[in-house]
Amino acid sequence: MVDFANNDVSLIIRCRTCGVDHRIMVGSDHLEDYENGELVQNAFPYLTPDERELIISRTCGKCFDQMFGEDLG
Ligand SMILES: [Zn+2]
Repeated sequence: MVDFANNDVSLIIRCRTCGVDHRIMVGSDHLEDYENGELVQNAFPYLTPDERELIISRTCGKCFDQMFGEDLG
């Protein structure tokens, strides 16, 4: 069971593509699970896909879309 109100750890992850720092709030218990090998989507089910991508590949949603997504402009 995940307690959303208990996210007490602030992760600052810098996008390796654009260099912008992104802050993600997670629970220390969840971070421990992740560091012990749990999958991101299982450890942090409350994060957005963009936030998960930052943790996995250190690429923010904006840059990820530019690399892999449709160009809607
Ligand atoms: Zn970026």
